[in-house]
Amino acid sequence: MSFASLSLHSDLLVVLESLNYQTPTPIQLEAIPEVLAGHDVLAGAQTGTGKTAAFALPIIHRYLTQYAQNDKKVIRTLVLTPTRELAQQVHQSFVKYSEGLGFSSVVAYGGASINPQIDALNKGCDVLVATPGRLLELAIKELIDLSAIETLVLDEADRMLDMGFINDINRILKRLPESRQTLFFSATFNDEVFALSKTILKTPKLIEVAERNATAAKIEQLFYEVDTKRKAAMLAYLIGSKNWQQVLIFPRTKQAVDELVKEIAKDGIKAAGVHGDKSQGARDRGLEEFKSGKVRALVATDVAARGLDIKELQTVVNFELPYSAEDYIHRIGRTGRAGQEGIAVSLISHKEKYLFEEVKKLTGEAFMMQWFPGFEPDFMAQEEEERGK
Ligand code: AMP
Repeated sequence: MSFASLSLHSDLLVVLESLNYQTPTPIQLEAIPEVLAGHDVLAGAQTGTGKTAAFALPIIHRYLTQYAQNDKKVIRTLVLTPTRELAQQVHQSFVKYSEGLGFSSVVAYGGASINPQIDALNKGCDVLVATPGRLLELAIKELIDLSAIETLVLDEADRMLDMGFINDINRILKRLPESRQTLFFSATFNDEVFALSKTILKTPKLIEVAERNATAAKIEQLFYEVDTKRKAAMLAYLIGSKNWQQVLIFPRTKQAVDELVKEIAKDGIKAAGVHGDKSQGARDRGLEEFKSGKVRALVATDVAARGLDIKELQTVVNFELPYSAEDYIHRIGRTGRAGQEGIAVSLISHKEKYLFEEVKKLTGEAFMMQWFPGFEPDFMAQEEEERGK
């Protein structure tokens, strides 16, 4: 299946080609026709599945086929997101997918000065991406006109509820036109999420896609884009929240091994470090502590890890991707042994993205990068990092 077969506007197809998007992801295949047909949608999909394009592309398509000639910009689409980071990402996706097409997106979130956001809104836009609190503030001060909203998107609805936005959402809904299309995305579903979806969706089309990469393969490989400075915190969070009891972690250098052992100890995670500068005795001791369960994490360099025989190792974390994609294969081969299931998680900074491309090339797999809720990359920091290079 191609994007062309989804009947998207030819200008959009050109953009997608320039982005090298060759085939739609499952959520895109299912959602795009429903959104184009004007249906409400209730979709279970995580970040990383391509869900942003699943709603952004048909929205831009509608603009191209119906409104591109209009002089005056009015907000026809409102996207609500739980966090400022996700708002930025969704906004940037709209910008990316509509490059050169005359479509415009504005982003508004709290914790930042409101005036530049008001200035941007005054220039006019087709889509507003916002967090609930800031949107409400703009609406109450009558700084935005929501009367022309045709499509409302709730992105990561479960997180919005977790973060206590239910009252804000209800107050926003009262200000929107009754007759509109609503697209509801949530990674998880519980009673509260269903209750909210029931109150705001009209005979929705249900779409559920499997988590990416949860294939039949014995090793589940997950790739998260995360800023370098947040990697240690995310690692500690993953170990704790997923209750990983035995995890083998690979930074790239000996120095990084030592640093990481200290860093995660601060979060209460006991780890042993092994690398070539340690005596054999120290290395053996580290391995023994790991095997016996005295420490939960073993932090190792590629060289030190070769030949380690650890049975039933469930989890491997690439704290940094290796320079050689072959080493990636060696590393993840430490898990999923002897018919056991395993998980390999890679934490990838902006600067390591090219190494991720190498992994995809070598494995021949179309892996996709995801963002982990709470640890989404900060694009402003990335730009600063780039400039500082
Ligand atoms: P999302 O789930 O919307 O956060 O998207 C995750 C990542 O997948 C983003 O980096 C997108 O640019 C990328 N992506 C989305 N759709 C496709 C596609 N059809 N082909 C390749 N990459 C895609």
